Amino acid sequence: MEKAKRKFTNRQIVLIIFAFVLICAFLLAGYFYRYHYYEFYGFFDGMRVPERWILKRETYYEDELSEFSLSQFDISKSLTLVNTQYPLQKDELPELISVGEEHEISKEAHTHMQKLFAACFEATGEKLSITSSFRTAEKQEAIYAVNEFAVPPGASEHQCGLAVDVRTEAHASLNFIKSEAGKWLAKNAHQYGFIIRYPYWAEDVTGVTYEPWHLRYVGVPHAQIIYRSKIVLEEYASLYKEGEFYSFKNFVITHGTFGDGTFRFPDDAENIVVSSDNMGGYFIWGEIK
Ligand SMILES: [Zn+2]
Repeated sequence: MEKAKRKFTNRQIVLIIFAFVLICAFLLAGYFYRYHYYEFYGFFDGMRVPERWILKRETYYEDELSEFSLSQFDISKSLTLVNTQYPLQKDELPELISVGEEHEISKEAHTHMQKLFAACFEATGEKLSITSSFRTAEKQEAIYAVNEFAVPPGASEHQCGLAVDVRTEAHASLNFIKSEAGKWLAKNAHQYGFIIRYPYWAEDVTGVTYEPWHLRYVGVPHAQIIYRSKIVLEEYASLYKEGEFYSFKNFVITHGTFGDGTFRFPDDAENIVVSSDNMGGYFIWGEIK
């Protein structure tokens, strides 16, 4: 006996086509939503990765740790959070280096910025120029007075000298992300210790609208961790439990308040750096050779 062939009815065919068109419409809408921000690089770029895939908790025995005092270190500002909730103190002035005739940037960020600009030029052939760098509180006050989108004095990262605004010859402001340099920075700045500080997907967390041109130095490995975790600086400290140790590549990192002015850190770590977070805590990291 011949087996009856299964055939779709016209109605079923119409439904299948309809479902297919609907799925395509959703995918296209998703594509254009991202395209609107000129940031569509690939499917996985939009995904947030769980922190535990990036930072690994490490346990150390007592005899593997040494005690240090915070006062032994020149406290870095690289991980200082600056916003309206955590403004800079008036008397905190960074050590500055001149860039060209009009600009100054913090000594901590200077060489890293030069490397970033050179790498960007090599990759894209587009030259970045700085439109804004270090600002004094007075200058921020003046900007705040005339620009409804500007933040009040103390709340601008430009005052710590760790932020620069950039453009190319042809593209500035929001159009900057349309330039090859803008796209390259969005994907690669973290390798040089910089983050795009105000991404479009975190406007509700930062309180600042998308600024593809505003680069902030936080240093390696932190820029890489922030980029890969798809978070913003406001959220960074929350990845760490007080006083616990975490590894990322060959780095070991801890975060805490260290209220008595001392901390313990693995014996085998080199190049230990301490940065204040401007929220009453410190990030401490070193390299394991
Ligand atoms: Zn800026």
